[in-house]
Amino acid sequence: MSRASESAPRPEGEGTATAWARQELESLLARGLRRSLEPLESPQGPLVRVGGEVLINFASNDYLGLAASPTLRAAAAAALEQYGVGTGASRLVVGDTRAHQRLEARLAAFERAEAVLLFNTGFAANTGILPALVGAGDAVFSDALNHASLVDGCRLSRARTVVYPHADAGALARALKETPARRKLVVTDTVFSMDGDHAPLAELVAVCREEGAALLVDEAHATGVLGPRGAGLCEELGLSGQVDLRMGTLSKAFGALGAYVATSRPVVELLLNRARPFVFSTSLPAALCAAAEAAVDMVEGDVPLREKLWRNIRRFSEGLRALGFPAEPRSAIFPVLLGEPEHALAAARHCRERGLLVKAIRPPTVPEGTSRLRFCLSAAHTEGHIDAALDVLRGLRGSIHG
Ligand SMILES: *Cc1c(COP(=O)(O)O)cnc(C)c1O
Repeated sequence: MSRASESAPRPEGEGTATAWARQELESLLARGLRRSLEPLESPQGPLVRVGGEVLINFASNDYLGLAASPTLRAAAAAALEQYGVGTGASRLVVGDTRAHQRLEARLAAFERAEAVLLFNTGFAANTGILPALVGAGDAVFSDALNHASLVDGCRLSRARTVVYPHADAGALARALKETPARRKLVVTDTVFSMDGDHAPLAELVAVCREEGAALLVDEAHATGVLGPRGAGLCEELGLSGQVDLRMGTLSKAFGALGAYVATSRPVVELLLNRARPFVFSTSLPAALCAAAEAAVDMVEGDVPLREKLWRNIRRFSEGLRALGFPAEPRSAIFPVLLGEPEHALAAARHCRERGLLVKAIRPPTVPEGTSRLRFCLSAAHTEGHIDAALDVLRGLRGSIHG
C-alpha cells in the first residue's frame, strides 16, 4: 500500500490521486498557502464585479487598461470573422497565418529588432527559449528573484544553474569567472514581478560582455510601462541593441495574450526549430494576434496613456511614503510587505471589506517571510481610485504596526 493510504484513512471508493490531493491541500491550508479561484462577472478594468460586489481592481497586470478596450475588441472581432477561432495546428504545421506574420513584423519594428518570434504565453517563451539555447555542459546564471517561468526554463535546459543574489552584478561577475562552462547565459527579469524594482541592466550588459556571456531579459512588467515608446527598461536605458534576447509579454500592458522574443534572425531561426513550446503547441488564435497588433499601436502611439499611468504611479508612491511605507516610483508594482502568509491574507481581507481587490502574495511566489500585498496600478485608475487605496492602507497601517 502507498504511504498516502497508510497515513490518511481513505474514504470508501476514493481514488489514489484524490487521496494524495486531499493530503497536500490540508498541508497548504494549514500553512496559509492554499489558493482558490474567483470568477469576475465583468470585463477586466479598474472596477470589476466579483461575487456581486464592485471592487477597485489593484490586482491586474493590465497596466494601460487595454484588455477590454473597444479598439482591441474590434480588431479581435474582425480577425475572428476572417479566420475563425482555432488555428488547427502549430505554426510549423498549418497554424501560421498572415495575422501572426503581421504581428511579428509590427513587434520587430516596435522593438527595433532584426527579428521577433511569437510564443503562446510568456511562460511558454521562457520555458522554450532557455532549453533551445543551452544544455548539458553549459551554465545559466539566474537572479534569485526571477519569475517562475525563467526558473523552470533553467531546470528544463539541463544546464548547470547558478542563482546569483538579487540584482547583484558584482556577485554575477564573480560567479561567471568561477564557473567553467561551454556557453554561459545570464537571465533576469528587468522589472521584478513581485517587487517592482529594476535589474541593474547597464552593469549586467557590461559584465556579460566582459565574460563573453549571452543575456536574456524578461520585460513582462516593463513593456508598455518604461521607455520613451514603451519598449521597456532596455529602451529606457538605451541598451536594446546590447541585449541578446529581449522577451516581452502580450498579456500584461498589451491587454491580450502571448509573448515574443526580440533578437537576431539566426536566433529566431534556431528557436523556431528547437523551442519545444513553439514546435509542439497549437498557435495563438489569429484574433489574439490582431488584438495584440492593435495594442502595439496604442502602446507605442498613445503617449498620454503612459503618462497617465506614471502620474498614478507617482501619486501612489508619494501617498505610500506619507503613510510610512517604503515606496519608489519605479514601475506599476508596489509590494506592501507583511511577513507571514496569514498576515498578508488578513490584510487582503481588510482591503476587500473596504472595496479594494488586492491579492495576498505568498510562497512559493515570494521567499518565505516576505508575504505581501501586491498593488498593481493602471492608467485606467482615477485619482479617486488611488486615493481610496491610500485611505484603506492608512487604516491597515494602524492595525499592522499598532
Ligand atoms: C507574467 C510573467 C510571465 C508569464 O507571462 P504569461 O504571458 O502570463 O505566461 C513571465 N515572466 C514574468 C516576469 C511575468 O511576470
